[in-house]
Amino acid sequence: PVWTRIFNFVADHAEGSYIYTDDGRKLLDFTCGIGVTNTGHCHPKVVEAIREQAGNFLHAQANIIIHKPMLQLIEELRTIVPPSIDSFYFANSGAEALENAIKIARVATGRQNVIVFGGSFHGRTAGTMVLTTSKTVYRSGFGPLPSGVFVSPYPYAFRLKMSEAEASEYALEQLEHLLASQTAPKETAAILIEPVLGEGGYVVPPKAFMKGLREICDKHGILLIFDEVQSGFGRTGKWFALEHFHVVPDIITAAKGIASGMPLSGVFTSTDLMLKLDVGSIGGTYGGNVMACAAGVATIRAMRDENMLQNATDMGIQLMTGLRKYQEEYPQIGDVRGLGLMIGTEFVEGGSQVKAKPLVKSIIRSAEEKGMLLLSCGTYDNTLRWIPPLNVTSDQINTGLNIFGEALKEVIG
Ligand code: PLP
Repeated sequence: PVWTRIFNFVADHAEGSYIYTDDGRKLLDFTCGIGVTNTGHCHPKVVEAIREQAGNFLHAQANIIIHKPMLQLIEELRTIVPPSIDSFYFANSGAEALENAIKIARVATGRQNVIVFGGSFHGRTAGTMVLTTSKTVYRSGFGPLPSGVFVSPYPYAFRLKMSEAEASEYALEQLEHLLASQTAPKETAAILIEPVLGEGGYVVPPKAFMKGLREICDKHGILLIFDEVQSGFGRTGKWFALEHFHVVPDIITAAKGIASGMPLSGVFTSTDLMLKLDVGSIGGTYGGNVMACAAGVATIRAMRDENMLQNATDMGIQLMTGLRKYQEEYPQIGDVRGLGLMIGTEFVEGGSQVKAKPLVKSIIRSAEEKGMLLLSCGTYDNTLRWIPPLNVTSDQINTGLNIFGEALKEVIG
């Protein structure tokens, strides 16, 4: 009963951009299992890699032996991360990656505190719930929360009712204020940010803000952590969203799209930082599981061989253009924003985000009845998130846009 469930059908199987239900329905899946199946459901090359690996080794425990898929995955990862990132630690879930990133930052700097941004989602484990401020439900009743975490505003221009430049300036000012009033730089280990806000509403920060963050970190010896769990692995049309901002963080956390659905996550950083940790101080039984690593290798190769990043960029433009046309027709669509195939349409009703929540819920329901799955996000669940697979076709984008149009007509008129 504690598990949120958005749809009630029983799924039978999935392929590419579609999920097939056990009662014979075919649904266009623009949720990708919350941004995980970036190569489409059951990509044949990923499935083949998993099948082959299953007959070879199911569990090759990383403390005990070195396994080939992990070495291959590291080799592939080195080609898609900035050159300064040359050390790779693997875990199972996004939250676990975040917990380890914080531990690494604290030991490497000898400082305790961490700054996060309002609306962020970094997990809901006992350690990460304090980093997550997208909704109270993730922390309510679970306190006391771990200490040492401070929250600064995200440059969310639309909600702040500011231009991008004003939002950037405001958010940087507030961050400087936090460092002057609550957590001294000498006590601040890391600044942690999603380079595109995910669960908090699919918000793209201004470039100037991201550059400003790097400058503040450099000035004070604070580590910059990019949580690319949702924005990574081609989602924004680049391997990692950081490429849009030309800013290199000290630590990257990744999960979701890394292995097309197998449970795998990672903390990517520099050997210099990693060497500051005691051997054995982080780790886990299943971290870097051999099957998951094999799926990760096949995922990166499939994305590269099939030009999925370029497709994500092209299809993102097509989707965004179609959504903007609906925005002209419906004043309830307050904002359309995103990068690549990480797109949000924020709904407002009478200028209120709270009131728009039922509207978004009805649109999701109506779209499902018409054959497309969508998810919401944002503190008030008033933003629809569009997360098609990176190999989605132009026809499928058009089908999705048409279903959205019919749903808008049915729900709004
Ligand atoms: N970080 C971000 C940006 C996420 O979007 C998520 C999950 O949605 C997490 C961390 C947590 O990942 P997981 O659910 O695998 O623990």
